[in-house]
Amino acid sequence: MNALASTFSGVSDFFHSGTWIVTRNLLLFLAFLFWAALGYWTYKDARRRIADPLLIAIATLLGLVPPYLGPFIYMLFRPPEYLDDVRERELEMQAAEARLAEVGYHLCPHCDYEVEKDFLRCPNCMRKLKDPCKTCGRPLDPAWKICPFCEAEIGAVPSTPRRARRRREGTEQPVAGTAGEAGSSPAS
Ligand SMILES: [Zn+2]
Ligand SMILES: [Zn+2]
Repeated sequence: MNALASTFSGVSDFFHSGTWIVTRNLLLFLAFLFWAALGYWTYKDARRRIADPLLIAIATLLGLVPPYLGPFIYMLFRPPEYLDDVRERELEMQAAEARLAEVGYHLCPHCDYEVEKDFLRCPNCMRKLKDPCKTCGRPLDPAWKICPFCEAEIGAVPSTPRRARRRREGTEQPVAGTAGEAGSSPAS
């Protein structure tokens, strides 16, 4: 009994001693420092991942308000990539595309097979890629309105024989749907 009482009084003495007060203040200060550091870390991390300043503010608040727990909640929801990485990847992709276009690398829009710029038909899926110019025979882009090589008007020259062209010119009716195989249509 005596020993217990003396232990109690010892503990009580300790809690009223200057040592305890100093220790407690130190612990509180460290806890505050850790809390502030976590908030600052959240802010820095959010700035690297989020572009919108309002969302950065919200993330920082989240990192501070549930003390010590906030940064972990933030980590669950933060964007997976750094903004710099996203930007860099986009630039790299643009550069790669430019390089490929320069080299003359094209893909079939139907099957992604590698084709050359002046192919009229995809060798893989056999679909038509371009029509040949009726006047000079060079491959025409479907978006072009005239042949850039010989200045022939494409609208006036459907890929059907001359008879159809005459008829069209008379009626001003656009012939919808290319007649496909220009070569296989019976030449009169
Ligand atoms: Zn194809
Ligand atoms: Zn032409």
